[in-house]
Amino acid sequence: MSDGAFCITCGSEPPLTSDRMCEECFRKRNILSKISDRLQQYRCPKCDQHEVRGRWSEITKENLADLRIRENIEYSDKSKNVNLGFAIEEIDDRSMRLHIDVSGEIEGYKFLENHITLMQTSNAVCPACTRKAGSYFESIVQLRSAGRKLTSDEVKVVRNTLDEMLGDMEADPMFFITSEGPVTGGWDMQLGSKAMARSWGKRLVQKFGGTIKETSTVVGSNDGIEVTRLTMSYRKPAYSIGDIVKFKKNLWLIDRWQKDGPILRRIKYFERTGVSWRDMEKSVVICAVKNQFLVEILNRDSSAVEIMDPIDFSIVTVGLPYHDDPNSKTILIGFIEEKWLAIPQTNMENK
Ligand SMILES: [Zn+2]
Ligand SMILES: [Zn+2]
Repeated sequence: MSDGAFCITCGSEPPLTSDRMCEECFRKRNILSKISDRLQQYRCPKCDQHEVRGRWSEITKENLADLRIRENIEYSDKSKNVNLGFAIEEIDDRSMRLHIDVSGEIEGYKFLENHITLMQTSNAVCPACTRKAGSYFESIVQLRSAGRKLTSDEVKVVRNTLDEMLGDMEADPMFFITSEGPVTGGWDMQLGSKAMARSWGKRLVQKFGGTIKETSTVVGSNDGIEVTRLTMSYRKPAYSIGDIVKFKKNLWLIDRWQKDGPILRRIKYFERTGVSWRDMEKSVVICAVKNQFLVEILNRDSSAVEIMDPIDFSIVTVGLPYHDDPNSKTILIGFIEEKWLAIPQTNMENK
């Protein structure tokens, strides 16, 4: 600063800021931040979610206040090292007063500011609730079994996987159920979105095997764009992984699913084969996995073991499976064709 410099506003001596003002005049003309004294936000009266950047979400009071302040506060371009703190004063269900402290620096001068703003909440029904109220649905899901009716237990197990999926994922407001109920042979549902139906379909096939058929129907038009509805028909196989089935006169174990059908493992000796869903419709479940027992081995010799019959507790002899671990203390059995039969276990295959 050259000799003779002075504040352009009041004529004070240096030190002066870059725009040649003394500290007092500089502070009068500069602020760190500003925020309107009223903020407005929207909440859906039906689901209590708040509108946040064009989406609707569940959010805590603290996060909401933090978000609204950050959305609305403006900082001076010259501000540096800014810190913000706030306290919430609740007035009623629709309004809260926010006490905001801001600290920071401009040209090396420390600034401390306090703002008070009133945040008010208005009602607005979110799109998901609007749709639900209008019984809107975008897809129909039909749960069926291949070749027979789905039992009510099966419906329960299959249906539960939808709740599991919804629990595992981030909430999507369009993932809702409009209606559901029993129909001949299975269970029908109307779902809020096509994506919901498709993600669930993928899960069903991975877990229970089977096939998905999709059909699309035009149900109207919106601004010249066709509105379609998806019908997704899921056919669950009549058997599960681990079940023993009779197929082409032989006994096989359902090993795992692939796209075109299950992989089967022969019970009698080592053989593996892939079969189509269609061919498998001729198979019959002989011993479901839920009717198989893992029992203790009481005695063993080179070809057979003695075990206790899990139903009548008598001691019976069971021939060893084709691959047997001589150190194993247990054996998996199923009652097949009038006698107990050892079932080769999948985990033995890799030993
Ligand atoms: Zn001055
Ligand atoms: Zn809502």
